[in-house]
Amino acid sequence: MTNQSIREAAAGLFPGGVNSPVRSYRSVGGDPLPIVRGAGPYVFDADGARYIDYVGGFGPAILGHARPEVTRAIAEAAADGLAFGALGPREVELAAVIRDATGLERLRFLNSGTEATMTAIRIARAATGRDLVVKFDGCYHGHSDGLLVRAGSGVATLGMSDSAGVPQAVAGLTAVLPYNDPAALIRWFDAHPADTAAVIVESIPANVGILAPDPEFLQVLQAVPRAHGALLIADEIITGFRLARGLSGVLPAADLVTLGKIIGGGLPIGAIGGPARLLGLLAPEGPVYQAGTFSANPAVMAAGLATLQLLTPAAYQRLEQVARHLENGLRTAIRRAEAPASVVRYGSMLSLFFRPEPPRDYAQAREADTAAFARFHRAMRARGVLIPPSQFETWFVSLAHNEPEIDATVCAAAEALREAC
Ligand code: PLP
Repeated sequence: MTNQSIREAAAGLFPGGVNSPVRSYRSVGGDPLPIVRGAGPYVFDADGARYIDYVGGFGPAILGHARPEVTRAIAEAAADGLAFGALGPREVELAAVIRDATGLERLRFLNSGTEATMTAIRIARAATGRDLVVKFDGCYHGHSDGLLVRAGSGVATLGMSDSAGVPQAVAGLTAVLPYNDPAALIRWFDAHPADTAAVIVESIPANVGILAPDPEFLQVLQAVPRAHGALLIADEIITGFRLARGLSGVLPAADLVTLGKIIGGGLPIGAIGGPARLLGLLAPEGPVYQAGTFSANPAVMAAGLATLQLLTPAAYQRLEQVARHLENGLRTAIRRAEAPASVVRYGSMLSLFFRPEPPRDYAQAREADTAAFARFHRAMRARGVLIPPSQFETWFVSLAHNEPEIDATVCAAAEALREAC
């Protein structure tokens, strides 16, 4: 099959021709790009074109694609059988590795980040006996009803603010505050001192591009909800095991943590972690129901274990070195092209915004020149570099990216910036 024949078949089968909206490439004025294979830092489309990949599966592919240790572990697990609907050894092993790396006392594995945040909110409501939830403008926590309010990721990419089909009665339980605005959070709790179950936040927001958290905002986040009896949920679905072996360290006082992406080694996963007093609220120990046919599937556990084994402290040093090389190269290219663009980077996560300064919040991120981004995306792709197809998604560098790929990316960017601006 060719790119075109896959697209044509998909157009008749799937809404928008895809199974997740950002894959449509709509916001960069293109068609979905069918990927048939990945190897290390590269992905290959159905016509055989090769791209240096910074999509990284939107986060999980921290080792690069098709790392043999991971594919072998998946094959071994599959050979043992896949669907027992029972406790197994691999989930115990993976949980122990995560607990040792994060300090999270207890965990529950689920099938997606969406399930993790949805269930974390349910635990918080049960623990506090309260209904209201606070999230931040542009943060994305998956697609459950109550969290699809002014969300980032594909919602931001498609220029939507909310989703149809979410009852007002549900959306009305979610308050949305501006990110990096401690006064707004203090005002919220002054006005609603005893009604808020939880504040949920991405440890480093990365779904409208990356927003750098202000230290003062992080302090207020960790003090004010707690002072009013509300829980703080740190969404580490992107940042967990991305920035360090374990949690990001941005919100050490969080009550509950959600994980996903990297801990599944490329297969579907989510997890909630926290103290026994909160995780013990989950059935069958406690009254909060949550379940899953595929939860802690052996192949997923095997892929996660093989991945985390390779994520040594030295691996993070290497990621930092390579990603810094990319950041420096992009900054130089921007300066030389006199492009009105800026770069933000944390470890191996990077955003290139088409605005002169990095944004502090979603309102500023939305001021980025998305038309220039779309031209840049197409120009990069024409030069064999695949960046996420949205100004509002984050680039991911993997351990398979080496200096030659980074240098080729920077060369492509130098030309693409001139074409885009
Ligand atoms: N939370 C964050 C921070 C995310 O970036 C995502 C997905 O991109 C999710 C939650 C939802 O995870 P999933 O797509 O696995 O449902």
